[in-house]
Parts: sequence; structure tokens; C-alpha cells
Amino acid sequence: MVDKLVNSEANTRRIAMVESCFGSSGQPLGVPGRVLVGEGVLTKMCRKKPKTRQFFLFNDILVYGNIIINKKKYNKQHIIPLEEVKLESLEDDNQYKNGWLIKTASKSFAVYAATAVEKGEWMAHINKCIDDLLRKSGKKAVAEHAAVWVPDGEAPVCMHCKKSQFTLLNRRHHCRKCGAVVCGPCSSKRFLLPNQSSKPLRVCIHCYETLTQAINKNHNSHDVAHRGVNADSSGEEDSDDEEEINKGQPESHDLPKFYGDNEKQ
Ligand SMILES: [Zn+2]
Ligand SMILES: [Zn+2]
Repeated sequence: MVDKLVNSEANTRRIAMVESCFGSSGQPLGVPGRVLVGEGVLTKMCRKKPKTRQFFLFNDILVYGNIIINKKKYNKQHIIPLEEVKLESLEDDNQYKNGWLIKTASKSFAVYAATAVEKGEWMAHINKCIDDLLRKSGKKAVAEHAAVWVPDGEAPVCMHCKKSQFTLLNRRHHCRKCGAVVCGPCSSKRFLLPNQSSKPLRVCIHCYETLTQAINKNHNSHDVAHRGVNADSSGEEDSDDEEEINKGQPESHDLPKFYGDNEKQ
């Protein structure tokens, strides 16, 4: 289905349209062999609260951005290579429904569709793209994925010591290994997680111990253990929150569009 769209005029036009909506804030997206498979609005769980994002599924990448003007202007473009992606369905709860995890080695997060049908469509199309890619390249799916961050609001107190209450001054921190919300003293260590950064990242004490033990066991050498270092007051940016202007949020619900299913070219 999707293969029929390669080199089709409609596909070229649609990709050019996505590119122009991101304007200079985005990367060039038209590369040979790339197909725009589908697009639509999903709710992405961010650190503070869920936020509306426009998603574009291509046959090799997943792109999303903030909506400045619906269907006209997007910014804060993120590009995720599908080869690294693994999806995991989430159970509905009282607050959040029709969700799944998008997990990659460097970043993992939850998204929510408006209905169960849309969730099914999105997941099926994304998984199909991933399968096709891996089959073509002969590569294996990435086994290790970054932790999904627990949203701030779900942790009134530190998830590690269960004592420290968060306030304006006593800030929340996220362990980059397990995603837990922890206080400063419970996350005073840094550890090198090469998939996420070339610099050592904040981890909770529990993960620090586990990671250090694993390294000592594996290598039984002294120098590698130094990959864990003590925290300093480095101006580490602890937030993945993106400031936004909410001008063009869609007011009525737009259905996601998937191309190629019934389309004659
Ligand atoms: Zn604590
Ligand atoms: Zn941890």
C-alpha cells in the first residue's frame, strides 16, 4: 500500500506541505523513498501536563511538533527514527484513555488518541512501518529503551525516600534511568547513560547502586566504576517542557488521516 505512494505526486505534495508548515524551524523532510503514511493530533504526556501535538508518520521517521496554527503552522519539530521505536499499549485508567508508549533508546513518552479506534489505527500503522524497515535493513529492534518520566503531578512527595515534600523551592527531579520523581538528596549522583547523553545524567540512589554494581560485576575493574560521578551544581536542564503559545489548538476533533489505504494514484 505504502510502497505505491513512493514517487507519487500526491506524496511529494503532502511532504512539501508538512515541510512548509514547519518552515525554517524544521528539517528538510523530502528524501528519496520517503512516504508520508499518516498524520493527526495526539495528546503527548509531558512533564507537567498532557499537551496537544501534531504527529506525522513517515515510513522511516515519526515527526511531531507544537501546533501554532492548526494545519498551517507548527514548530518545535522532533524527529524520531522508527528503527529505534518500540510501542507498548497502555491500559485505560480513569483519567487517561487510548494511550500507548513510544519508546526509544534516548527518549520515551506516552501519547493518547481521542478514541480506541484511532489508537488502533495509529499503533497498527506505526508497527507496520517499523516491521517493514527492520525487514528491509535486516537490523534488530533496539532492546534497551529510555525510561518514561513519571509526570510531576503524580508525585507530591519523593518516590524514593517518601518523605521529602515538593514545593517551589524543593524542586522535583527525574531519574534518567527509571523515570521516578525524586528529591535532590535522593538523586545526588550522576551516571553515564550513553544512549541518552555524552555527559553523566542524574540518577536516583537506587539506580546508581544497581548501575554501579552491574559495572563492577561485568568488568571487575576500577576505572570503569568512575563512570559514576558525584553531582555538582552543573546547570543541568531538568525539564523537557516546551513553552508554547496555544493559539491554534484544534477546537473540534480532527480524525487522523492515513494515506495509501484506499487511494488510487
Ligand atoms: Zn527523596
Ligand atoms: Zn532511578
